[in-house]
Amino acid sequence: MGDYDDGNNSGGIIGTIISILILAAIWPYLLTIIGLCIAYMAAMAVLEWMAQNPFTVVLIVLGIAFFYAIFHYRLIPKAWRWMIEQLKPQAVELNLRQHDLADRKFIPSTNLYCYWCTKKLGIKAWEKSGKYYCDDCHTKQLVDP
Ligand SMILES: [Zn+2]
Repeated sequence: MGDYDDGNNSGGIIGTIISILILAAIWPYLLTIIGLCIAYMAAMAVLEWMAQNPFTVVLIVLGIAFFYAIFHYRLIPKAWRWMIEQLKPQAVELNLRQHDLADRKFIPSTNLYCYWCTKKLGIKAWEKSGKYYCDDCHTKQLVDP
């Protein structure tokens, strides 16, 4: 009796092992089939929902396109640059003014005299409209031209 039981048990164990092996062999396919079924059902549900809410779908698509455009065309840095450009005109004007002042001829000669105060021109001297000015008068000129 003991031997028979052992044999029966062994056959049961072998059968179980074979079943497990078969299951192990086909489980990826089973999972795939189950996954496809779930995906199909989900797709049908989404399509049904989309058919019922076309306006919402359009909004979502536009939203996705919006974010895609922002990241694809780097619109955030561009918008930032545009904002800085809007703030720039003042700075540009200031730079032009400074450039205009700096553009006046610098006279290194010491044989000339200031047109206003007749002081002998030193290292810092300036020329404007053919007249020469010392640094002090030039500064006054800038304050009150
Ligand atoms: Zn002077």
